[in-house]
Formats: sequence, C-alpha cells, structure tokens
Amino acid sequence: MKLVAGVDIGNATTETSIAKFYNDKKIEFISSGIVKTTGMKGTRQNIHGIFSSVKQALDKVGLSIEDLNLIRINEAAPVIGDVAMETITETIITESTMIGHNPSTPGGLGLGVGTTININNLHEISNKDPLIVIIPSTVDFMEASEKINREFNNGRNIVGAIVQRDDGVLINNRIFKKIPIVDEVTLSEKVPLGMRAAVEVAPVGGVVEVLSNPFGIATAFELTPEETKMIVPIARALIGNRSAVVIKTPKGDVQERIIPAGKINVTGEKRRKSIDVDEGAEEIMKTLEFCSPIKDISGEPGTNAGGMLERVRQVMANLTGQNPGAIKIQDILAVDTFVPQKVKGGLANEFSMENAVGIATMVKADKLQMQAIANELEKQLGVLVEVGGVEADMAIRGALTTPGTNVPLAIIDMGAGSTDASFMSKEKRNKSIHLAGAGNMVTLMINTELGLDDIDLAEDIKKYPLAKVESLFHVRHEDGTVQFFENPLDPKVFGKIVILKEGNMVPIPGDNTLERIKTVRRFAKEKIFVTNALRALTTVSATGNIRDIEYVVLVGGSALDFEIPQLITDALSKYGVVAGRANIRGTEGPRNAVASGLILSYRKEDDKNE
Ligand code: ADP
Ligand code: MG
Repeated sequence: MKLVAGVDIGNATTETSIAKFYNDKKIEFISSGIVKTTGMKGTRQNIHGIFSSVKQALDKVGLSIEDLNLIRINEAAPVIGDVAMETITETIITESTMIGHNPSTPGGLGLGVGTTININNLHEISNKDPLIVIIPSTVDFMEASEKINREFNNGRNIVGAIVQRDDGVLINNRIFKKIPIVDEVTLSEKVPLGMRAAVEVAPVGGVVEVLSNPFGIATAFELTPEETKMIVPIARALIGNRSAVVIKTPKGDVQERIIPAGKINVTGEKRRKSIDVDEGAEEIMKTLEFCSPIKDISGEPGTNAGGMLERVRQVMANLTGQNPGAIKIQDILAVDTFVPQKVKGGLANEFSMENAVGIATMVKADKLQMQAIANELEKQLGVLVEVGGVEADMAIRGALTTPGTNVPLAIIDMGAGSTDASFMSKEKRNKSIHLAGAGNMVTLMINTELGLDDIDLAEDIKKYPLAKVESLFHVRHEDGTVQFFENPLDPKVFGKIVILKEGNMVPIPGDNTLERIKTVRRFAKEKIFVTNALRALTTVSATGNIRDIEYVVLVGGSALDFEIPQLITDALSKYGVVAGRANIRGTEGPRNAVASGLILSYRKEDDKNE
C-alpha cells in the first residue's frame, strides 16, 4: 500500500486529496484539505500553504507527513490576479462649476435659471432679470425669507436659492412663491456671483430631470452642440440626485482632455496586431482571437496599457527571479466597465462614471519554477515530491469522478485568477487551455463599479444575495419576496441594503440601490465567466465549434456561486450544450478536481511502469 497526496496550488486556495493505493491497483480516497494559498501562485511562498493543506487532510484521518510515500503538485500556471482598470478618458471641467449633492431636505420645487447674487446685495440690482439668491450661513431663515418676500413684492424676479445652512424647508414654508431651494451647500462662499446658474429640485421621491440631461443643461444655458458635448460628464454626475445646481462661469467652457489609454500589441504564432485600448473590450478580444495562439502581449510604452502590462511582467520577474524579457504574457481578458471618477470643477465632490476597460492578465507557466518548488518541499518534508500534469488535464480526470459523467467531456475550471478548460475525447485525447480572468476579476469589477473601495465587501457582495431591510420586522429579498421576523432586527441595519451572509445581515454603506448592486454583480459575472466559457470551449473543442461538445462540467470555487453556473448553463444551452456543476468523487461538489486528478493520473503512470 502506498499513501499519495495530490496538491492543487491555486491563486486562492491550495487543495489536497489523499488516497491509498493498494497493490491490487484499487484506489481509496481517504481525505481532503483546503487552505488559503500563501503567496502568489507558482512561487516559493506557496510551500507554507501546501504544508498546511496536506497536514489538514492528514490530521482528519489521524495520519502524519511521515506516512506519505509521495506528494504530487500541479504544474501551476502563474496568474497575476492584478486586474487593472484603465480609464479611457479623463474629463476635466474648467471654468465651470456644479453642485450636485443630495441634501436630505431641499426646499421648494421646479427649475429656476438666473444670475447668482448674494442675498445681502439684492438692493444693488434694479432690473427684473431672473435671479438666484445665495444665502450664506450668516443670514438665518427668518431674515432670508423676509428679504425674499420683500423683493417679490418689489417685483424682483427671484427664481431659485442656494443656501449654506440646512434651511431649505424652513425658508420655503415662509415665502409666498414656490422656487427651488438647494441647501446644505457648505462651500457656498465659493459659488461665483454674477453668473448664470440653474437650480433644480425634484418632488419627494423624484430625481432631477432637466440638469441630469445634457440637452436640458444646453437649453438652460443656450449651449452650442459642441459645448453640449462637453457638459455630458456634468449631466451624468447629476443623474439620480433630488436636487442640483449648475453654474456657468466666465469663459463658461468645459475642456475635455483625452489621456491616451495606449495600444496593446499582440504577438501570435503566425500573426501580430496592435489595438487601441479605447476601441473597447470587444475589439481587444477580437484582436486576441485573430492572433491566437498567442506568444506574448505587450503594451505601448508611456501609456496606461503599457504601464499595466509591463508592471505585470516586472512583478512576475521579481517573484521568480527571472529576467523581465523572459516573462511571456499568454492571455488577457478585457471587459468594458465604468469607474467613478471625481469631476474636477465640482463643489461637492461629484463623481461621474467614466468608461474604462478592465484587464486581467496571465503569464505563461514555467515548469522549471514548479520543479524548484517541488525540490524545496521535498527537502523540507523528507517526502518524495513530483510535479504532476497540466492543471486543466488533471481537472478533467477529477471531474470524471462526478457520478453520471463519461467521455467525451469538457470541463471549465473557474478559479480566482484563471478560467481553465479541457476537453477529453472518446479516444481519451485531450486539449486544454488557461485563460486570464475569473473570480478575482468579478470581485474587482464589483468593487470599482460600485465605488466601494473595500475588496472584502465586494467579495461578499459577489457571493451572497441581497435584501432591503424595510422595517425592524421585515426584509424584502432581492427576488421580491418578503420575510417577517418575530424579534426586532438590529436598528443598525434598518433601511439599509444588506448582504445575507451565513445567517447575518451585513449592511452595505453608500447609496447604491439594491437594483443597481444586483445589476452590477450579475453583469460582472456574465461578462467574465460567460465570455471565458465561450472562448475556452471554442478553443478546446476538437473542431473549434462549441456545438460539437455535448457535456460540460463546471468545477472550481467560482462554480459554487449562486448565479454563475446558471448564467453559463443558459449561455451554453443556445449551442445545444448541456452544462452543470460537478460533484467530484460524489462528495466534494465542484471542489478538489485538480487534486483528485493528480492522484488518478498517478495510477496511470504507475500502470505504465509495471
Ligand atoms: P484557485 O484554483 O484559483 O485557487 P478556487 O477554485 O479556489 O480558485 O476558487 C476561488 C474563487 O472562487 C474565488 O474567486 C472565490 O471568490 C470564489 N468562490 C469561493 N467560494 C465561493 C462561493 N461560495 N460563491 C461564489 N464564489 C466563490
Ligand atoms: Mg484552481
């Protein structure tokens, strides 16, 4: 009898499978282990995680490292999980000002367009032109409303107000004409005077409609089509607010500066082509397809794209002690996305959503590197260690232990950094591929698109469903169903959107609506995993046509997701392909495929030797 461990070092987790090999060739799987991967996949720092994963599996069955005859590790393809969001354009608004904040209680209603004037200087004006009064904190609501009423009586045309204090409603209640009043403008002293401004307040529960529409702003300020194009970021930043102010300053113009995102150069075995990042994700992916199989991918020096790809090369070179020139980027996944960008020229920290391209990269596997890890591990543990096979090939062997599966079969291994696929034909010949982009990129996209700045929170949003706490005794789930509680919920979650995580309610800070969070989440999953599933299967199918694959089994941590398998199943059903989640060895669910495959492939090699 021999005791063998298979260890799969992933970007996120290091999984172990332990089996007994009897002399009559019978294999008995006896235990599994799973721990977080230590260090970047494919580097020496992994050793610590390998040790604890193996130890965890052995402990479960009362065995120790000394009992092992052999450890087989995977030929880990190092993937840099560093996903960058490269903004395509950066918009800088100069000589123009906007206030787009959401005070809790703006006053009045409607839209007013006029010239800005300090309420204390109203006597200086004698004509009947429309005016927007600025009310500094030194003027209280009584004084302000008296002044406004007096001017109304004098026939002055006051059409809106911008208030520093939280007095919007109080002033509104005391004046005899309805005008829009935006309050809590803390920087009101910075509001330029004598300029044309537009103030808009929507009814309770409503959102501004004129100032969130570029043509609405154009109408208020009589802009040319050229100028209208320039104020698009202002309009975008105001979408969804209940109140807004836009002020046109002397030159009144807006400048748009486009920072080159740069070119990506793809070198294939037969073809090479360059593509501008600002052409968008779809064109980038087409270029990749055109050049495949890929030898290397680089970026234009001195641009965003160049910076990112060369950074990946540099990091990998440092980690593996190789020359950066020797590091080849094997694949990238580009996805169109939005990133919130601070609008320069705003007075209340306004953001606008800018187009961006997110890019995940993958570096070519280096077998020598894995051999070095194996040698080191062998020395430290005193157990024979060998590098098993290619990950995707191992995964398919493991996946075939799912009850009810048989060749021909394709698998998609959806991990943290890469999506790997493999196809095994009736003749047991197989073809596999490793693609950049998986669970980490989904998390990153959720993080940036929702402006969370909290990766752990983004990871939870990815993994768990949402609900809105509508009262202290009930929540509305994201599918619309209502759940009641006997005991009051924690007041901290009242009115909040929460993540339903393992029996707890984790509130999500910020003012994203449930619908928006859900949409961003599903879109990220779809863009990354459906795209990669289709790319992967096209490559591994014997004919290059997905339709020729009958069955696909989904493995890896991301196959545990509550939406991803469904999204892929739906997308593949259009090609007549049946897809479903694996259940490795009938017990492990979609996990442990590679680790189990490493053990099963050992039996094959053993057979040959005898
Ligand atoms: P790797 O092989 O790269 O280490 P794994 O197969 O361990 O990756 O999968 C890790 C990925 O799976 C991570 O992106 C993680 O967020 C995701 N993941 C793990 N558990 C779940 C879950 N319950 N729901 C959704 N995603 C999950
Ligand atoms: Mg994996």
